[in-house]
Amino acid sequence: MSVILLFEIKVPPAESGVAKPWRKRLEALDETQSGGYMCVGAWLEAGAVCFLPAGALIVGVDRTSVTTRRVRLWRVNTRGELTVMRDSTFKSWASEFGDGVRKSLRAALAKYPPRPYGPLPVRAAAPRANTWAAYCSQCRKPVAAGAGLLLGPPGRRSVQHKPGKCPPLRNERRGSCSACGGRVEPGAGILTCPQGAWRVRHDDCPEGERPVLRGVEAAAGAPDGRPVSTSER
Ligand SMILES: [Zn+2]
Ligand SMILES: [Zn+2]
Repeated sequence: MSVILLFEIKVPPAESGVAKPWRKRLEALDETQSGGYMCVGAWLEAGAVCFLPAGALIVGVDRTSVTTRRVRLWRVNTRGELTVMRDSTFKSWASEFGDGVRKSLRAALAKYPPRPYGPLPVRAAAPRANTWAAYCSQCRKPVAAGAGLLLGPPGRRSVQHKPGKCPPLRNERRGSCSACGGRVEPGAGILTCPQGAWRVRHDDCPEGERPVLRGVEAAAGAPDGRPVSTSER
């Protein structure tokens, strides 16, 4: 089995002022279709990062004015960079996939046929660390600069603690420890939510977590003598 190297490629972004830019990985040409529909392949988001092998072709169209279309064809070269194979601007939308462009696409596909390999592994850019201190969108607690992750698309960025790093939720009311059954003063325990039911346990309870107490056992285990059951949440 041969190994196909995938390069991390930034799909060419659209310049400002361009309307309806689109990018596609070109894998085949269906000349029974018209316009951009003849380009067969996975959609790629302009400016996103994806993994592509050397030889992969990307076709892109930018509407640079009401009547002009810029059609480009790129290839991922063996160094993992994009090489421009064609860059043409057409005055009429009818000619953007006319004879000349079709000939270029056909020739490129013949020379660089898409190589079979699993599903196209596309991903957004890797999450970056937060530059400024912010509040976590999950737990609402502060995240120091550089300690969390910056997520979401531009304009709707949010900051989160790294997975599993949100500080634990504290109990606001007194309760019975779900592990040892002892009393937990307000703020001294950690709230957990196994199977959708909120429970409190000592921060560093010596007892391991055990199933929710039931009936008589629970009545015996509750320090204030108050019976507790699974239905009491
Ligand atoms: Zn958090
Ligand atoms: Zn305990």
